[in-house]
Amino acid sequence: MAQGDAAFQQCIAPDCGARYDVAEVRVACPACGGALDVAYDWNRTRPPRSLRAFEAEWARRSDPLRFSGVWRFWELLPFVPREQAVTIGEGQTLLQRADALADFVGLAPNNLHLQYEGLNPSGSFKDNGMAAAFAHAKLTGARRAACASTGNTSASLALYCSVTRLMKAVIFVGSGKIAYGKLSQALDYGALTVQIAGDFDDAMARVREVCVRLGTYLVNSVNPFRLEGQKTIMYRVLEGLHWEPPDWIVVPGGNLGNSSAFGKAFLELKELGLIDRVPRLAVINAAGADTLYELHEQRKVRWNGGRVDRSPERAYYGELDARSIKASTIASAIEIQRPVNLAKCLRALDACDGVVRRVTDQEILDAKAKVGACGMGCEPASAASVAGARLLRSESIIGPSDRVVCILTGHLLKDPTATVAYHSTDQEQFNEILAKRGVRRAAFANRAVAVRNELDDIIRAIQLYS
Ligand SMILES: *Cc1c(COP(=O)(O)O)cnc(C)c1O
Ligand SMILES: [Zn+2]
Repeated sequence: MAQGDAAFQQCIAPDCGARYDVAEVRVACPACGGALDVAYDWNRTRPPRSLRAFEAEWARRSDPLRFSGVWRFWELLPFVPREQAVTIGEGQTLLQRADALADFVGLAPNNLHLQYEGLNPSGSFKDNGMAAAFAHAKLTGARRAACASTGNTSASLALYCSVTRLMKAVIFVGSGKIAYGKLSQALDYGALTVQIAGDFDDAMARVREVCVRLGTYLVNSVNPFRLEGQKTIMYRVLEGLHWEPPDWIVVPGGNLGNSSAFGKAFLELKELGLIDRVPRLAVINAAGADTLYELHEQRKVRWNGGRVDRSPERAYYGELDARSIKASTIASAIEIQRPVNLAKCLRALDACDGVVRRVTDQEILDAKAKVGACGMGCEPASAASVAGARLLRSESIIGPSDRVVCILTGHLLKDPTATVAYHSTDQEQFNEILAKRGVRRAAFANRAVAVRNELDDIIRAIQLYS
């Protein structure tokens, strides 16, 4: 059994490397302020000898912990005994081949897959991490959990609280910043919802203070246990590809928890000898919230063996503050300027020969409409992955015969406002929501047809348009 010291928390800074017990609640290293990993002494846990061993778990899916797309892979995240894990049925997600979209991205049919995380219980990938955070919170006996959220973390937290009754949910959202689908979830699931005057970055700073003051369990992705759950998205991608790593994983980047988790997953699989090749990683920012792009691609900040030079980051934030620039994009889930997982993401980019790109709101919404037309709707932030893959293909960084997996992070119904505005015939609505963000046209709009309530007119319209 992996518990006690076979699993521990460890500072990612190589000059520190301090270790803490799994049962402690920490969001940073008390010794140096660095980020913490959940780490394992794999000689004392029992990792599988091959990834195929996980296929046998599926036959035992009447056990909820085998049904869970997270805990099915327990041997790769054994920080609690399996019986103490928490599940509400997360991770039943699909890796779907997207031939109809491959052409838009510039790939041969067969070569583009979408990992559709919108199928999670709360409609986004956050549930993978929440299951793991709840397993840890249960271990620590926490009674109240909080997060700052652009929406999906709060929807997930609220759902896990209402289903498991393990903790009470407190969520912090920026005013006017949360998409309606997500806000409706938090309210309906009964979370205490605190709307603060400010944006996500403000809410994030506040919730950290509040959690310290009240001893509240923080479930943002600074919580290293969240990332353990999110590693399993990559295990399921590999499973969907018969354990053959693709050439590229493309993922939107906000607070950079997901990209960090993916990198950790591959580093560990490599270390365990379970894969012989890691995919390349592409992290896609929105142009209006492009800190990672700026730091990694323009100012060349690198992981550097864990000795990350933080001065370009500080300088950049200083410049943004001096010019009062705030994050701004229609892709509200990645409207984040100060990503808390920056260092871990740099490690992932280093491990996976990664690249970072940024895409405009126009490119995001066009890609989103294309994704929807293929029958797998997603919210705007998710479509950044597809827009990013298209951009990287046009730059020939992704090759024509590369096998690419784009992560669709959240469900279409999360943000109906953006979708309806894009397809709308109402110019005023288009202007109010999209034009002010630099979106000029809706090239793939599927407009509703207005018809008089007369049978002949209706028949004529159908014959004309279909
Ligand atoms: C949270 C979220 C993201 C950003 O993920 P990070 O791990 O914060 O980089 C992207 N898309 C959706 C739909 C999200 O909910
Ligand atoms: Zn440290």
